[in-house]
Amino acid sequence: MGKICEAEAAKSGLGSGGMSWRYVFMFSIMLNLSLLFSRFTQDIKTSATGFVGSREEQRKPELSPLSFADKPPACAVAKMGTNSYCSAIGVDNPVINLDHGDPTMFESFWRSMGDRSSIVISGWQLMSYFSDIGNLCWFLEPEFARQIRRLHQVVGNARSEDHHIVVGTGSTQLFQAALYALSPSDASEPTSVVSAAPFYSSYPSITDYLKSGLYKWAGDAHTFEKKGPYIELVTSPNNPDGYVRKAVINRTGGILVHDLAYYWPQYTPITSQADHDLMLFTVSKSTGHAGTRIGWALVRDKEVARRMTKFIELNTIGVSKDSQLRAAKILETVSDSCGHSDDSDHPAENFFEFGRHQMTKRWEQLRDAVVKSGMFSLPKFTNDFCNHTGQTIEPHPAFAWLKCEGGIEDCESFLRGHKILTRSGRHFGVDSTYVRISMLDRDETFNLFIERLSGIRS
Ligand code: PMP
Repeated sequence: MGKICEAEAAKSGLGSGGMSWRYVFMFSIMLNLSLLFSRFTQDIKTSATGFVGSREEQRKPELSPLSFADKPPACAVAKMGTNSYCSAIGVDNPVINLDHGDPTMFESFWRSMGDRSSIVISGWQLMSYFSDIGNLCWFLEPEFARQIRRLHQVVGNARSEDHHIVVGTGSTQLFQAALYALSPSDASEPTSVVSAAPFYSSYPSITDYLKSGLYKWAGDAHTFEKKGPYIELVTSPNNPDGYVRKAVINRTGGILVHDLAYYWPQYTPITSQADHDLMLFTVSKSTGHAGTRIGWALVRDKEVARRMTKFIELNTIGVSKDSQLRAAKILETVSDSCGHSDDSDHPAENFFEFGRHQMTKRWEQLRDAVVKSGMFSLPKFTNDFCNHTGQTIEPHPAFAWLKCEGGIEDCESFLRGHKILTRSGRHFGVDSTYVRISMLDRDETFNLFIERLSGIRS
């Protein structure tokens, strides 16, 4: 062996020095490994101390802590017009990202449910494209349909008996399916799509990104005057401002799509059973399972439901069965939990009571912080009787629609100066004195946000 080594070394011209080269080589590998390791641990530290928010958000380059230069200012000074503002924040204060409505607040409830909401899917199961070939929506899992109808019955927020169910990859896909189904294919020009400002910021881009010949974004419903057919999106409670809404145009030739993503008891009193022609729902906001990417539409008209189904067939040949069955189990767990009344022994048994409790607490904290700061204002809501809880309750929307007062014209930039990331009113069809702030992040992020906001003074 030694001979072979020596022969090899001699061939390469290294002789006994070859051994030392080998040591150098190994040493260099070890050095590189240790450098990589220290870089890795540094990255972990940065994401643990320098950033609060979901992992998805951390990937967005414009949200990187580096955008605050190497060292964040001890006192975040923002100059707005002739005024400058400073918040009492430390050097290690992380960026708080409340731009997205990622519903991670609900994780703690689902963790407490343990295996009650788990499903197991074997490798041989759910392999076919088809779920229910006798059904108009042939890729809808019957168990998911059953749990949807059951939950609407238990909560009392929508009538589903006279409606067809169409499942989608999130209500985002169903929204597009609805536009496709409701726009006449033989019209001389694209059907106008409108929503009253402030409207959900994704509507304009989702409507126009493919430059469809069937439909076209036409802006704020309040100022829409064009003659002819139109589709009005009615979001109730509304994203971003949380108000309960009705259609604003009310003209013949108009078709309504009701986006009821937030019509659930943790956010708003359930005042009646919604019974519109086309209603959109999603597990993203009802149960917090945004990553499951499942939504459903309740559609009265058979032909519209058929065309929506066709859209999804052309777009994705159906919707993940795995996700539908997971969603079915989640809805089942929520319906079952509604039989429980919360008490101190079982603080998180009832899903909607858990959600309502969290939201009530958060809105109280937020209103206190706004008063302490004196630089912002929030919408005011009126209490209403909730048929689901049997109590008169206040709305607690999933987003805070915050207005900067005192002459601050760009509220998003102002808060960014304090390392709070929000979404400007401009994205919602209004001015930049407003921002939308997610109320659904994890406790640690939300508490930090409240602390930071309270410290902003003029
Ligand atoms: N509609 C509204 C009003 C929303 O706020 C959202 C999510 N932000 C959606 C639809 C999209 O939901 P999904 O995750 O099911 O696509």
